[in-house]
This record gives sequence, structure tokens and C-alpha cells, in this order.
Amino acid sequence: MDLLKQYKEFGISEEVLKFAGEVERSLLERFEAIDRTAEYNQLKVIKAMQEARVSDIHFAGTTGYGYNDIGRDTLETVYAKAFHGEDALVRPQLISGTHALTVALSGNLRPGDEILSPVGKPYDTLEEVIGIRDSVGSLKEFGIGYRQVDLLPDGSFDYENIRKAINSRTKLAEIQRSKGYATRPTLSVEKIGELIAFIKSVKPDVICMVDNCYGEFVETVEPTDVGADMIVGSLIKNPGGGLAPIGGYIVGRADCIERSAYRLTAPGLGKEVGASLGVSQPMYQGLFLAPTVVAGALKGAVFAANVYERLGFAVVPDGRESRHDIIQSITFGTPEGVIRFCEGIQAAAPVDSFVTPEPWAMPGYDSDVIMAAGAFIQGASIELSADAPIKPPYAVYFQGGLTWYHAKLGILKSLQNLIDGGLAKLP
Ligand SMILES: *Cc1c(COP(=O)(O)O)cnc(C)c1O
Repeated sequence: MDLLKQYKEFGISEEVLKFAGEVERSLLERFEAIDRTAEYNQLKVIKAMQEARVSDIHFAGTTGYGYNDIGRDTLETVYAKAFHGEDALVRPQLISGTHALTVALSGNLRPGDEILSPVGKPYDTLEEVIGIRDSVGSLKEFGIGYRQVDLLPDGSFDYENIRKAINSRTKLAEIQRSKGYATRPTLSVEKIGELIAFIKSVKPDVICMVDNCYGEFVETVEPTDVGADMIVGSLIKNPGGGLAPIGGYIVGRADCIERSAYRLTAPGLGKEVGASLGVSQPMYQGLFLAPTVVAGALKGAVFAANVYERLGFAVVPDGRESRHDIIQSITFGTPEGVIRFCEGIQAAAPVDSFVTPEPWAMPGYDSDVIMAAGAFIQGASIELSADAPIKPPYAVYFQGGLTWYHAKLGILKSLQNLIDGGLAKLP
């Protein structure tokens, strides 16, 4: 078997391969731990499917209003069981993570209420949802306020100011697990649990909602295991396992889910309607595969951290840190570095490997963004992808990979491209 020859056909040099081999060998124990987490989570998902008595009748789609769509309802039961919530909303009509978060927020907030973000600025697209940046239709326009308490410089919670920020209007805490487009640390589920306990000790009825994007199945517990009232995410990220063609989920307390459903469809209709149009089957199968897919993506992230750290670039998380999401940020410090990296990821893709990614203005983002993706599902970032806002510190956010081998190829291509452009040197 000549693996070297296979890689050479992708333009990877022997030196790059040798270096990558050394890095990979140093990570055997990390990879083993990742596999054990996947094994645990695989059992969790199978158990949920068995308890919900999933059967092939659930894979049939409905049309129109979607009354009595047992595939849809049973999938929601599976999600509720797998993520240990009372109920769930899992729908193709939730068109993205941002939309699912918007539904959860606007369903549960009323005029005069206030949102608290105790972990700093939320994900870019939520700025317009909340009205941090003025936007037509924002929650701000509906009289919903917003307060933010930043993390302390060492990444820990600023408990004193969180206590001060909680007031009689505080209705919901929006806790973002993943770093998103920031260089702050991602929160462990354990840390999120401590934060929720603190918020509830100050004001017990605050709804603690966790933006769980990119976090699902990275650990053996989810925020719903440590007191979160709602967790929210996208099916074209981790829990869709690369197969869900669209969708978002909200899992948590039954009353929170009910209010969300009345916003998604209409007051009085709620969860009773919403045709699944034949996409339930890939949603089930994607959830089934998700623990393994997330493991592959995690291996890629850990590998990338160790590769680029050895070459002297700043990486978050660093090569040894424990992982709480699948995102890896690498700071190149120049637009060229970021662009070269993304070109390499694109060139490794099974789809659209022949196109060249370029920085562009994107709705919801306040600077040009470059995105590399060659995905089977448009925009799916559980598939190998990289994106970077073109602004200092010129950090790229890299994530996904339906298989570890594809993630590895992408990282090698990006490294080769940086070396060929004189922007990185092997040690
Ligand atoms: C991806 C993501 C979202 C939602 O993004 P969509 O592209 O709308 O799915 C929200 N928050 C975080 C932290 C994310 O990573």
C-alpha cells in the first residue's frame, strides 16, 4: 500500500507528510479518548431510538399541514430522550441555527423583558436578531432589552457583574457554548452548569438557554444535563451527522418548547403542524451517525491545533487543551495567510474542489468573510469547512470533516499551500 503516492497525487510533499506523521503519532492517546466519547454517545443515541420505538414507518413524509406526522413527532421524542429534555422541536422549517435561536428567543420573551448574555458578545448573526446592531425586526424593536457581561481576561465568569446585571426584567440568559468568531475559550458543559446554578441562585426563574451550536456530542454530557432550560442548535452542524439536509432543534423544558412552537408556526397551532416533506429519514440517520462524525471532526481539530502550534501560530484551543466544541481557530495575522489556508481546505473537498474561495460580504456579518467549503449540503459546517472574517487578528475558524481522513487531507493541503506561498516553514 503506497499511501505516500496517494498523497503525492494531491500535491502533498514528502516533508509535509513526514512532519504530519510525527504529529499524528503524538496524538494516539487523544484520539483514543475521542473514540471512547463517541462510543458512549453512540449508545446514548441508540437507546433514545429504541425507547422511542423508531420504525421505518417514521421515515415516510407528510405534505400540506403535516397533521399526524408521526415521523416528525417521534424524531422529536428521540431528540428529547437523547439530550435529556422534556420535549423537543426538531424541524426542517427551522432553517438554520440562527433561526432556531430566534424562534427560541422570540417565543419565550415578551415586551419589557431583558436578555442577559453573561459570556460576552454572542455569535455575529445574533447581533441583528437581538438588536445589538440595529436591524429591522430585531427583538429590540419589540421592546426587549439586552445586557451583556464580558468574560474576565482569563476567560472565567465575572460573577460579581453578572449578579449586578440581573434585575427584575431579566427573563432569559443566552449562554453561548462555542467561541464562534471570537478568540475566547469555549465553555465546558461543567462550567456552563456552574454558571446556570449561579444565575438561578440570584433569580430562580431566569430561563437559561444555551446556544449549543458545534458542541453536541463533543462531551458525554450536554447542557441540559446541568440545568439548561433550553439547548438550541443547527442540524447542518453536529447533530445532523452530515446527512440532515436542513433543520434546527430546540430541546428542553416542555413549557419553553411549547412557547417556541407557537412562534415557529402560529399561536394555537404550535407543534401540531409542519409537514416533514420526506426529510425525516436523513434526520434520524444523521443523528445516528453524529457521534462518529463529531469524533472525526474533533480529531481533525486536535490535529490542526498541533500542526499549526508547532509552526509557531497561535491556536485556540491549544494543542493540549480539552475540547468542548469542534472549532479550531488559527491566527495567521495576515489576510494572505487566512486566504491560503482556506484555498487548501477547498482544494481537498470532494465537491467544488476546483473553485477558489474569495472574501465577500455576507448577510449577518459586519466585515468581508472568506468561506471554504466543498459540501454535499450547502453551508454544512459539520462538513470540512473554514471561514474567516477579513479583519484583525486574521484568524481562521476551521471545523468539521465527515471523516477524519478527509479532515487530515484538508489540513495537509492547507499547510502545503501556506508553505508553497512562503507563509509557513516546517520546523
Ligand atoms: C453556527 C452558529 C450559530 C448559527 O449559525 P447558522 O449559520 O445560522 O446555523 C449560532 N451560534 C453559534 C455559536 C454558531 O456556531
